[in-house]
Amino acid sequence: MDIHEHQAKDLLKRFGMPVPDGGIAFAPEQAMHEARKLGFPVVVKAQVHAGGRGAAGGVKLCQSEAEVSAFALSLLGRNLVTKQTDAGGKPVHRLLVEQATDIGKELYLGLVLDRKSERIMIVASREGGMEIEDLAEEQPDALIRMVIDPAVGLAPFQSRELAFGLGMAGAQVAQFATVLRACYRAFRDQDATMVEINPLVITGSGDLVALDAKMSFDTNALFRRPEVAALRDPGQEDPREDAAAEHGLSYVGLEGDIGCIINGAGLAMATMDMIQLAGGQPANFLDIGGGASAERVVAAFRTVLSDPNVSVILVNIFAGINRCDWVAAGVVQAYRDLNLTLPVVVRLAGTNVEEGRQIIIESGLPLLSADTLAEAAATAVAARPRMAA
Ligand code: GDP
Ligand code: MN
Repeated sequence: MDIHEHQAKDLLKRFGMPVPDGGIAFAPEQAMHEARKLGFPVVVKAQVHAGGRGAAGGVKLCQSEAEVSAFALSLLGRNLVTKQTDAGGKPVHRLLVEQATDIGKELYLGLVLDRKSERIMIVASREGGMEIEDLAEEQPDALIRMVIDPAVGLAPFQSRELAFGLGMAGAQVAQFATVLRACYRAFRDQDATMVEINPLVITGSGDLVALDAKMSFDTNALFRRPEVAALRDPGQEDPREDAAAEHGLSYVGLEGDIGCIINGAGLAMATMDMIQLAGGQPANFLDIGGGASAERVVAAFRTVLSDPNVSVILVNIFAGINRCDWVAAGVVQAYRDLNLTLPVVVRLAGTNVEEGRQIIIESGLPLLSADTLAEAAATAVAARPRMAA
């Protein structure tokens, strides 16, 4: 789960992170009010769950109330499209109004959960402001990586080594230790999966300030982090993913046109690979989970069909805890209830497979069946209606 920049800054501030003074605004008048309180110049920043706002016109240095008001009016209620959003962008419903910072130098600081080492890993660079993906590609040598041993925690020598690596000296080294400690403690204590300060700024007077902040959290830990869970902004999330979660389905929308209904995350990944291998593109990832009732299968169809790009549906079930006859009954019910006309490919294997196939055959519906994963993918790709040239 992602949170907004202003929420990440509030949270990190509680752990000692230096951040610019600022306030949140949902309307132009409120933005002007916040700016007046802070004094000019201020920076007004669109709050969306995506980076790349600066380059996309979502961040502006304002010298007057009129400028704040005009900028707020131009952003609020619109969608902001950045390099990190899809073509539709993310809706802007709130703005962060901050005291402008005098930037001397922009650095990069990130903490991520490194699955390979099973540790929190620090990534830092003298080249701040750039996106980390670009930085890793264009200047891999400019990245400093360091792993934190959970039994020891963040060691003071690690902070110093990083500070020196970032070109700091004197009082900055101690300030950097405070910054890094705030990141690490917030990460660890709040079950985060990512903290990113980009840029971490050295001001004109030599002090460190987090100019931007991004945090993501482990959704599986939200049950024990009610304060974090309360920061969720459903307006920034894919409504289809929301609806799916209500039915116990994990759904992730993608760009292709082959709708997928699959049980098991691993099988879903493998199926998406096979679709690509067969020359197609999946429209989504969807795991219906174990013990899928007919009702849940129908909900899965509804979710998949809410994406207008879907031109064919592939149902791939390897039933262990699930039962093929339940799933088959669900497919038949969905086909009838939802008046489907698009091609549906069904591949069933595992528990009660014969009963499942029987239900499909007896339904008399024009469902395309497949025996293997490869065959299912190839059939789905071939079943797509041809686009008009
Ligand atoms: P992002 O583009 O979504 O990552 O948004 P950031 O918060 O990182 O802001 C983008 C850029 O705007 C920064 O890299 C800065 O160059 C600029 N910026 C943001 N706040 C300030 C500020 O207070 N003063 C100045 N001079 N520039 C700022
Ligand atoms: Mn940034």
